[in-house]
Amino acid sequence: MNDIKLALLGSPGAGKSAVLVRFLTRRFIGEYASDTNSLYRKRLSIDGRHLNLEVFDPCSQRSEAKCVLEEPVAWADGFVVVYNISDRTSFLDAKNILRQIREARQQDQCKGQPLGVPVCLLGNKQDLCHIRQVHEDEGRCLAQESRCSFQEVSAAESYQDIAGLFTQLIRQVMEH
Ligand code: GDP
Repeated sequence: MNDIKLALLGSPGAGKSAVLVRFLTRRFIGEYASDTNSLYRKRLSIDGRHLNLEVFDPCSQRSEAKCVLEEPVAWADGFVVVYNISDRTSFLDAKNILRQIREARQQDQCKGQPLGVPVCLLGNKQDLCHIRQVHEDEGRCLAQESRCSFQEVSAAESYQDIAGLFTQLIRQVMEH
């Protein structure tokens, strides 16, 4: 049995808990009390391999602050960095978080991965594209610079995309 540890990082309100709960339960939970750090466990099977997945969802404070990030950044095998496409500040926070992952983990030397570990950059709240503040190309460019994967999703509207990106990230961690 493989153990896989992932962490969700991003600004408060970007939708980290909503993305994670969508993945784990297929449901969208509108309001979620996220004033404590949460560790979720799930058993799953990918490509015939049985896995123990642990996902860390830090409490929603200014989670780009270095002190808050240190623990999950050192602990996880892979990251989902979430921003809200209708909030530019959350995109700038995501940039900062990617930099902090690189600084802490680049010596891990994941194949062809300057961040050191597998990362997926996630532009959430795609259903709010009529009030978007971050163009999809900006997200794609940031991901290309960091050589991580990228996707826009809506935790409110879609399960499939979110399940797909977690599966892809877990595969990258298994190959790492
Ligand atoms: P966190 O602080 O990053 O964990 O963010 P939450 O998961 O608590 O979400 C913050 C707010 O955004 C909540 O009111 C959610 O209902 C809302 N939210 C999360 N994802 C989406 C989404 O895809 N679309 C919309 N419209 N709202 C979302």
